[in-house]
Order: sequence, then structure tokens, then C-alpha cells
Amino acid sequence: MLDFALMQPSSTIDDATLHELAEAFGTPLWIYDLREIDAALTLVRDAFPHAHLAYAAKANANRAILRHLHAHGVGAEVITVGELARVLRAEMNPAGIVVGGPAQDRALRELARRSGVGRISLDSVSQWADWRDDGGWPDGARAFVRVNPALDPATHEHMATGQATSKFGLAPDEALALAREVADAGVLAGLHVHAGSQITDTAVHDGVLAVLAPLYDALPEAYELDLGGGFAVPGYPYAALAERVTSFTEARGLRLWLEPGRALVATAGTLLTRVLHVKEGVRRHVIADAGMADLLRPALYGAHHPVRAVSDGSTRRSHDGPTDVDGPLCENADRIARDAALPDVLRGDLLAVELAGAYGLAMGSHYASHTRAAEVVIDGGGAPRLARRREVLEALWADEVDEEGEGGFEFLTFGEAAPTAG
Ligand SMILES: *Cc1c(COP(=O)(O)O)cnc(C)c1O
Repeated sequence: MLDFALMQPSSTIDDATLHELAEAFGTPLWIYDLREIDAALTLVRDAFPHAHLAYAAKANANRAILRHLHAHGVGAEVITVGELARVLRAEMNPAGIVVGGPAQDRALRELARRSGVGRISLDSVSQWADWRDDGGWPDGARAFVRVNPALDPATHEHMATGQATSKFGLAPDEALALAREVADAGVLAGLHVHAGSQITDTAVHDGVLAVLAPLYDALPEAYELDLGGGFAVPGYPYAALAERVTSFTEARGLRLWLEPGRALVATAGTLLTRVLHVKEGVRRHVIADAGMADLLRPALYGAHHPVRAVSDGSTRRSHDGPTDVDGPLCENADRIARDAALPDVLRGDLLAVELAGAYGLAMGSHYASHTRAAEVVIDGGGAPRLARRREVLEALWADEVDEEGEGGFEFLTFGEAAPTAG
């Protein structure tokens, strides 16, 4: 671990600090301010003081973030053996972990069983069979049954996971049948709904609760409700949601689980990138050293991230006309921002891409043999430290097997013999 001792603690990441971090660690660079995570946690906890929070690890699985969340009593929601391994490595309490997702393969099941996870969210009838038939239901674990609330997508354009045609969860009647079976086996905790991501409107959850009410009436054994995550950043109306949800849970004596991902980490993250070239024209193209292989969301979802010029103390004129902040790769979608509001930008300037703490490096790739950027964490005292080294070139081919086939085709999965080629 590398201490960045020159830094004075500060309450925000000021532009001078951003310059120093870029000098010390290079660009592109991810910077996570743990104080912003604390602020986000406070927002959720003020509204839901009694809920158990299971952070959706797919948003950002950096160990420093997982450890920080754990230190604040937060558990995790995981969907792959890799995520489970990482949250366990961060010493999260297994009882506060919920295993979910549409797959739940053998490797995930084995590690979940060995580590003693507290909850498993069943997404299909065959998952229930897999857990029991292949090693047995894990000792001490309880099940949620994931309901597809089949909400009209017209109610919200981002309701991608909660509409009838999505792959997630079971239709309410099927979910009820499975939940009855699980209850008869003595391991039902309750029902689970994750309605979508970037939800801004509490009306979505009114719809969810209306679907869940008759199911809970038919499941007297259920004592918990997992409402998933998906709360938009910034500005989600937690108090309004809490009003609706708390009356639902209190009337039925249910303990609440929530699975915020983006809501806890998005505001904490800044992607720092340096301007390589500026091309004036019909549209100004600012070619930066970060692109879709670092931050995929703009290309994948058309997501908008605020981009601002980091001041170097000089005065810059404003710029008329449209500006794109483009990445370094040969791909039209390799763009960080369209129509960014930037002043005159020069080669070598630093740009700060904001709201980038969630689904950033987590969705990054080796596309075009891009190496992953470093991650710096600013801790509660305001001191920055390196949390993940910039990838070395060797990482690109470290797993390649030489042409002579030495070692054959190594395909190792948890506890399974490897199929061998040839
Ligand atoms: C992705 C996911 C979340 C978190 O979603 P955010 O939009 O990041 O809050 C929570 N629960 C489940 C089941 C998910 O798939």
C-alpha cells in the first residue's frame, strides 16, 4: 500500500489535489471518496433505520469499498462466485450476504455453502432443486423467492428488470407456489423484488407492494422482505419511499432488506482523465485517455456523466459549439460524454468525470488490449492511498497458454475435473 503523504486532509477533492493525484498515479485514474459513501449511507439509513443493507457488489467490488461498507454494518448482494469470494475476502459477515442472480452455478453454490451465507434469493424453480439435490440446502440459510412484478414498462422507462418479459424472477402465482414449497421445507425468509435500476419515482414501488400484498397474505411463515435496489442518483426521494414501505412491513411484521448498489457508491467516484488531443471542427472532439474500456455506461446505456475541466489556475475562455469527450479506441461508441459543457481545453488538461463510482471499473474491459486504470481511495480522514495498481501489460497475456499446448487447455472450475482439449 502506498501512502500519499504529501496530501493534507480536506473535506472535498479540490482541483489541486486532483492534479497531485494525477502526477502521483497517472491517468486515467479512479478516485473514490469514502466520505461520500458515508453521506449516501446516511441518506438511506435515515429513511430506513431498521433495514439490513446488502450492497450490490456488482456496482464496485474494490476491496477498500467493501471493507468500508462492512465497517458500517453493511452486507452484500452477490451473483457470482467471484463476487462472493471478493466480499468474503473483505471479511464481510456471511450472515449479511444474499446470493442472488439468474444462474447460481455450482461454484457459487459450493462457496456459499462453505462460507455460510445468510440468504439465497431463488430466481427459478430449478435453482431450488439444484441447491437441495447437489450438496443440500446450506445450513442456516434462508430463502427469498424473487418475484417478477410484471409491471407495465410504460410506468417507467428504466424498469428493465421488473417487466413481464424480463428474465428475472417468477410470475406472482409461480413465485407463490415455490414460496409455499420453501416454507414447507422450513427455510422461507420472504419475497424479493428488484424492480430495476435508476428508478426515480416511488410510484414504481407502489406497484411492487400492490403485487406483493396478496402473496404475503398467503405466506404467514414469511418474516422478511427484500426490496432490492435501483434508487436513482442523485436525488432519490427516500423519505417518500420509506413512508410507503414501512407501513407495509410494519403491518405484516416484516424485517426489510435493501440492496442498493449505485446509490451507495456513485457519488463517491471520479474518473480522472487527461486530454490527449483536441480536434476543432463542426463538433469539437476532445480525445481523452479514458473511454469505453474504462467507463462503459455512456456507450452501453447512453448514460450521462457530468464532465468538468480541472482547473490549473489559468483563465480559459468559454467555448461555443458542441463538444464530445471521446475515448482513445477506434470505435464510434468510445465516448465519455456528448455535448459536454467545457471551456477552451488544451492538450494535457485534466478532466474529472463525476458520478462514476458505480459500474465503472467493474464494467471495464481489456478491449483493444486496454489495461485497467489504478484506483485511489480517499479515506475518512481525507488521506488518499492507492487501492489498486494500474494493470501492467503482462496482465493482458498472463493467462495465455503457449502454442505448444504446454499444460493443455486448462479449464478449472470449483471442484470439477477440467475438460482437456485434444
Ligand atoms: C443490480 C442489482 C441491484 C443494485 O442495483 P442498483 O441500481 O445499483 O442499485 C440490487 N439487486 C439486484 C438483484 C440487482 O441485480
